[in-house]
Amino acid sequence: MIFSAPLYIKERHCGYCNDNKEDYFALESQARKSLGSRGNGRDKQSIMVGSSITSMTCQNYDELINQGFRRSGSFLYKSDLLRTCCRLYTIRTNMSYLKPSKKQRKAINKFIKEICPDESILSPVPKNTFSLERMVEAQLKSTNFKIKYEASKFSVEKYQLYKKYQVAVHNDDPNDISEKSFTRFLCDSPFMSHEKRGTDTQWQSLDIDHWSSTAREKRIGPTHACYYLNDKLIAISVLDFLPSGVSSIYFIWDPDYAHLSLGTISGINELEMCQKLGYDWYYLGYYVEDCDKMNYKANFGGEILDVCSETYYPLEQVKRYLANGRLFVVGTIGETKPGHELDCEATGCIKSGTINEVNYNAAEDVFGGDDVYTNAEKEVKRLHKYYDIGRTDEYKLPPVMPGLIPLSRIEQWLDEDVIDDDNTVIKINMFGGVRKFQLGSLNREGRGFYIDCVRLFGLDKMRDSTMILQ
Ligand SMILES: [Zn+2]
Repeated sequence: MIFSAPLYIKERHCGYCNDNKEDYFALESQARKSLGSRGNGRDKQSIMVGSSITSMTCQNYDELINQGFRRSGSFLYKSDLLRTCCRLYTIRTNMSYLKPSKKQRKAINKFIKEICPDESILSPVPKNTFSLERMVEAQLKSTNFKIKYEASKFSVEKYQLYKKYQVAVHNDDPNDISEKSFTRFLCDSPFMSHEKRGTDTQWQSLDIDHWSSTAREKRIGPTHACYYLNDKLIAISVLDFLPSGVSSIYFIWDPDYAHLSLGTISGINELEMCQKLGYDWYYLGYYVEDCDKMNYKANFGGEILDVCSETYYPLEQVKRYLANGRLFVVGTIGETKPGHELDCEATGCIKSGTINEVNYNAAEDVFGGDDVYTNAEKEVKRLHKYYDIGRTDEYKLPPVMPGLIPLSRIEQWLDEDVIDDDNTVIKINMFGGVRKFQLGSLNREGRGFYIDCVRLFGLDKMRDSTMILQ
């Protein structure tokens, strides 16, 4: 992986809540402590960590998604779940979670009618029964509808549809939309060139006519699924095919075809495709419980990632803990126990008795206490002489953030020489060339920067990564 210095980004404007939130259950006590009277913890809204990625494999990205990251073009980010106003939770699902709602079933039936007006060519189904298979069959037999899978490349036709969609559906100012911004957002990716390109067999395997064929090659790489009705491009699904599943990035549809509920159709179609082609998961991006633009994803069922333990929990089970956009964590910071049960009392992270209280703030309850936060601050102090870390100002990562490797673990690695001055080698791209440095040869800022990268991406990723310093 080749990446630029991670940035801790505080935005004043949040596109999810439009800055209208009264209380976002953030870690306000600690913000007050560090900012004094200046801060009430709400002076910034949307808070995330991000890094520009120059190059990574789909396997790298697959692992990062399961650590709570997402990409937008070549920018990789995840929200600071302790402090941000709208918490972005990774959600994934598969067919076993899908319970088609009445609305979804209606949309599918309408879509089948549109692409197969003569329903007599389809296998008969008993009255009032519903079958997802019928949607696949209708696509196979349709003469006016086709989904074409191709590399995520720019075309004028795609750009025009994108512009029409952004203006009509998202009320964007047409002057703000350019070929460049479209390309950066939905065509560019930091993946390997062979992954971007794909092979003829890969593209063929994605075609619905080949879904049941056994001679297939699994597509891995960024992809545009282009929906054509009567030879007109009416929708584009922007997808990443990854080893563990298919990740949905964005969906563009022609507002003239709003009656076809293409967003619903694409979701169900992609779930179906995952199952047929052997991709375990369908990653829907981020779920935001208290944002209507984002919580429709619950309609596909699925699981929510706990970033501390890197374990998924069924949405059904954890939905109440997310109420009003609260923090949900199972693993305590510093204690990652993959696979452990959602046992509220035992983990101390979720107190089931108090969860229903209007003012209950899990962020304060779990991370605000002296043990977690004060210990981390002590660690920052101990490491401070040698490593420039733990400042909450500007771009440095804060001492405590769910999903980062805790400072106590870093200290342990330093004590055990898992990270050490002589043997830890860092590849840095500067002045146009890649040079190797021993950790000990860097200055305090450089060493701190390395530690922050380890906290964010993990030790394994850092072993074969190159950092770009600007
Ligand atoms: Zn917000």
